[in-house]
Amino acid sequence: MVISDFTREIKSEAERLGFSACGIAKAEAVEAKVADKYRKWIDEGKNADMAYLQNNLEKRLNPLLLMPEAKSIISLALNYYPERKLGDDQYQFAYYAYGQDYHDVIKSKLFQLSSSIQEMAGTPVITKPCVDTVPMLDRYWAWKAGLGWIGKNTNLIIPHSGSFFFLAELIVDIELEYDAPMPSHCGTCTRCIDACPTHALETPYTINANRCLSYLTIEHRGDIDQHITHDSELTTLPYVYGCDRCQLACPHNRFAQPTSVKEFTPTEAFLSMRPSDWKSLTVEQYRTLFKGSAVKRAKYEGLIRNISLVNDTE
Ligand code: SF4
Ligand code: SF4
Repeated sequence: MVISDFTREIKSEAERLGFSACGIAKAEAVEAKVADKYRKWIDEGKNADMAYLQNNLEKRLNPLLLMPEAKSIISLALNYYPERKLGDDQYQFAYYAYGQDYHDVIKSKLFQLSSSIQEMAGTPVITKPCVDTVPMLDRYWAWKAGLGWIGKNTNLIIPHSGSFFFLAELIVDIELEYDAPMPSHCGTCTRCIDACPTHALETPYTINANRCLSYLTIEHRGDIDQHITHDSELTTLPYVYGCDRCQLACPHNRFAQPTSVKEFTPTEAFLSMRPSDWKSLTVEQYRTLFKGSAVKRAKYEGLIRNISLVNDTE
C-alpha cells in the first residue's frame, strides 16, 4: 500500500476504535530546546518526588532508545470529559478520575489498532503501545503529530475540542506521512495562570509540581504543606483528588463534548456522595466505590488525608 493510503487507513481505524484524534510524527530524538527545558525542569526539582519522570531520562528524550526500529509515532487522544458532573456543593474529583482506570481502556484500543495495522500491512509490523508506563513525552508527541498545541497550563489543547483528553502513542517500525506541529494559540490569555490557587504555573508553559494540587492530592505521600494550600480555594470548591481549575479556566474547553467511552461514565454511587459520606468513608466503601478506578493511586490513606484538609461545615 502506498504511504499516503496506509496513513489514511490507520487514521480512520483509530477513529473507528473511538479515538478522538490521531496524528503521526517521525520517530526521532526530541527537539534540543524541548529536551534542554525538560532537563532543566528536572534539575530544578520541579517534578517533586515523581522519580519516574527522571528515570530513563535519555529514553524519554529519544524514542529510538526505547525502540531502535522505530520509524513513526502515532499519537492518539481519547476524550474523557464527563456528561454528568459532581455538583458545586460536593467534593470535587478531577474529571479524568470519574470512571474506570484509563490505562486498561486505552491499552486495549492500542492493541486493536496494532492488530489492524498488521492486517493492513500484510507483513509483521513491530509496534510498541505507550500509555504512561513507557517513558514518553506524551504532550510533546501529540503536539509534534499535529493534534494541538501545548497551552500555558502545560496541557495539550486540541482546537475546537479543549484539553480533557488522555494521550497515548503507538510506536511503529514503518514510515508514514507526518503531520505538522501547530503553533500556540494562547496569545495574551493568562486565565489558567490566574486560576491556579497555589501559583504552580510559575511562568507560562512551566509547572512546578511541588505546588500543584494535582500532584499533592494524588502522587504525594505524607503531609501536605499547609503553606501551599493555605491561600487556595480548597474550601470553596474543594478538590479531594486532583485539580482541574487551570483546565476549566481555559476558554478552549467551552468546546468540550461529553465522552462516549462508557467505561469513563461515573457510577451513581460516586455522583451521589455528600461531604458527610466522604468524611465517614470506610476502607470497604472506598474499595467498592473505586474498584478498577485510577483513584486507587492515592490509596485510602491519601484520600482521607485530602478530605481532612477540607474545612467545611456539612
Ligand atoms: S492542576 Fe490546579 S494546582 Fe495544578 S497547576 Fe492546575 S490549577 Fe494549579
Ligand atoms: S487558559 Fe488561556 S493561556 Fe491558558 S492554556 Fe487556555 S488559552 Fe492558553
